Amino acid sequence: MDDPDVYEETAPAAGESRGGPPYAACVQCQEPTEYPESTRGITLCPVCEWREAERAACSG
Ligand SMILES: [Zn+2]
Repeated sequence: MDDPDVYEETAPAAGESRGGPPYAACVQCQEPTEYPESTRGITLCPVCEWREAERAACSG
């Protein structure tokens, strides 16, 4: 799962003790979401979540 090629550009210098980012990554844009990593299912960042809501509102 650890891919050094897609490492965060703003990685903390001394954040080793955290054991990784506290939030799950957005499944669409890989941005940090407001959900913890333990969240099950699809996690979307506020932006993508808003876009999904827009799409849902416009469909049908
Ligand atoms: Zn997103």
